Amino acid sequence: MVSLKSERELSMMRKASSFVARILDEVVSMAEPGVSTLALDQLAERRCKELGVIPAFKGYHGFPGCVCISLNDEVVHGIPSAKRILKDGDIVGLDFGVSFQGWYGDSARTIGIGKISKEARQLMAVTQEGLKKGIEQCHEGKRVFDIGHAIQNYVEGFGYSVVREFVGHGIGSALHEEPQVPNFGPKGKGMVLKAGMVLAIEPMINAGSFEVRVLSDGWTAVTADHSLSAHFEHTVAITPKGPEILTI
Ligand code: MG
Ligand code: MG
Repeated sequence: MVSLKSERELSMMRKASSFVARILDEVVSMAEPGVSTLALDQLAERRCKELGVIPAFKGYHGFPGCVCISLNDEVVHGIPSAKRILKDGDIVGLDFGVSFQGWYGDSARTIGIGKISKEARQLMAVTQEGLKKGIEQCHEGKRVFDIGHAIQNYVEGFGYSVVREFVGHGIGSALHEEPQVPNFGPKGKGMVLKAGMVLAIEPMINAGSFEVRVLSDGWTAVTADHSLSAHFEHTVAITPKGPEILTI
């Protein structure tokens, strides 16, 4: 069952998503060499309290943080820690969501700390552009796999690979709703997109092979070959006028 959101529901999701973007902006501006990933998480948690929103990931299936903070070869679901100190040259994936009066927004960005390598910079830029290519498919009458196909086609042109084990998702009054939105797949297949659908599109792109493994902490997914990985995500509404990015 895919829920189609009413205009009133969309306006709630716009609010939730704008809080996500605002808090992520603040976390990004705090991220610099010497800062722990726990300090970033604590900032997000404090801002949620002050703004009257609920951090969506805290306690979700037992996740201990508010923000998933994944460094370098970590793909997603990194756990904030006082022992993880950001250093010059790191790339940092920040994945964050909130609920506001029962409605969710979800977004992710990957940022560089200090001076990063040319390789890292390109991976981040291509992943962000890949997300844009996916969003451009979000029109009524297109199909879910058109999104993933556009992302895959673009990023593989740079020799990168698309993570298969984690995918995007519908979002609304739950953080994860149907349909699943893979970042790969055959053009013209899958569910038909309709106005009122809201999707969290979130390519995770590896510089090397697409394979990942989960560390013994039970959460952190890393690239199996320890190549760099980048992650960008937006919550996107499908409207009669085309895609509307909510998490900006
Ligand atoms: Mg997310
Ligand atoms: Mg998501």
